[in-house]
Amino acid sequence: MKRDLSVRALILRALDLRSLAACALFALTGCASIGAGGSAARDVVAPLPIASITNGVWMKGDLHIHSRHSKDSSNNPISKIIGLAEAVHMDYLLISDHDNHVNGDVAHNTWSDPEFKSKSVILLYGAEWTTPRGHGTALSATPYDHQRLYDVRNDRDVKILAVKKQLGIHLSANHPANANAFTFSYDLVDSVEVWNSAVWSSNAGAIRIWDGLLKSGRKLTGRGGSDSHHGYPDTPALATPLSYEAPANNVGTPTTWVFGAERSGQAVVDALTNGRVSISANPYAPRVAFYASLHQDGRMDMMMGDNARPTGKPVVFRVELSGKTVSGALYTVKVVKDGAPFASLSMKGETPMVEFTDTPDTGQRSYYRVEVEGPPTAYPEVPGSVALSGKMVALSNPIYFNFDPNF
Ligand SMILES: [Zn+2]
Ligand SMILES: [Zn+2]
Repeated sequence: MKRDLSVRALILRALDLRSLAACALFALTGCASIGAGGSAARDVVAPLPIASITNGVWMKGDLHIHSRHSKDSSNNPISKIIGLAEAVHMDYLLISDHDNHVNGDVAHNTWSDPEFKSKSVILLYGAEWTTPRGHGTALSATPYDHQRLYDVRNDRDVKILAVKKQLGIHLSANHPANANAFTFSYDLVDSVEVWNSAVWSSNAGAIRIWDGLLKSGRKLTGRGGSDSHHGYPDTPALATPLSYEAPANNVGTPTTWVFGAERSGQAVVDALTNGRVSISANPYAPRVAFYASLHQDGRMDMMMGDNARPTGKPVVFRVELSGKTVSGALYTVKVVKDGAPFASLSMKGETPMVEFTDTPDTGQRSYYRVEVEGPPTAYPEVPGSVALSGKMVALSNPIYFNFDPNF
């Protein structure tokens, strides 16, 4: 036995020497690494890690809403916002008050408000970073020192990035094509607000900016946010000139869905960062899921947010709607590839589903995302939002190929 082992060790040693010789030869010609199998190409197309697409939980919420701690809010108490979020079965919520209204001291205002609590909704910690160079959203599963981010708002981007990294927060660009658009470097952020408020049609500029960022190789999550400032006044006497907005733009217009590893605040933040995210018109509207089968075995093995090395063979993509769909209604799926229209498909049924096939280029970056239009879904608590969202039902984040994970 011992002798067998030593013989085997000698053979392995000989193979190592052969590999070393080959490496030396390739080093002269500028070749990259080479394994014991002698295949440099295999290293180049090494697969990227993809988490399970089934072990997890879908969670819905709103990532942009203002309470009475924002001075441009119509004295909207936190309890009313959380009450509506609970009533429409939100899983998580970020109350994102303007930090400049409290000179950065969010911790002793929004977060310390006795009403800042919920038994059923995961409350994230954050604020709308409100600066002369536009607005962003800072968020975290746990309290952090927001004052530090506020204090560097007018510094160079490189300094802001360092503070952001030290705080360990997720930073997102807000309403990038509207008033107070985010004008910092997008290298500071992990996501972009591509669907702001119930008025879907006002987001065309944000979508264009997002596609431009994606085409540049930045893997940035698209997310939603109602940016609601106005609750229902308790009495007509408490109404303000903007109270009329409450029945048109409120919690969940739109609703951002995330696929997290578990039901926790950290899982929500992680999903936002990795892009396993879709957006729906309101909390009752259907949710879109976008999958791909890389290996032609009939099984979906990727979802939106995932990034893979193409095999050079056709990939089957699947678009699915779930939840409160309108039976028999036709839903239109607009497929966008690398920022340009790629296909227009339709689907219907109880659980509408459609598939398409394409072969991503093995030598180039590419991404695919979908937008779904169809019959609107009623939102009884915020009835005026339905007409504002129109036919827009939901949009997905992209499925990515060949994106540099170290960009
Ligand atoms: Zn804003
Ligand atoms: Zn806002």
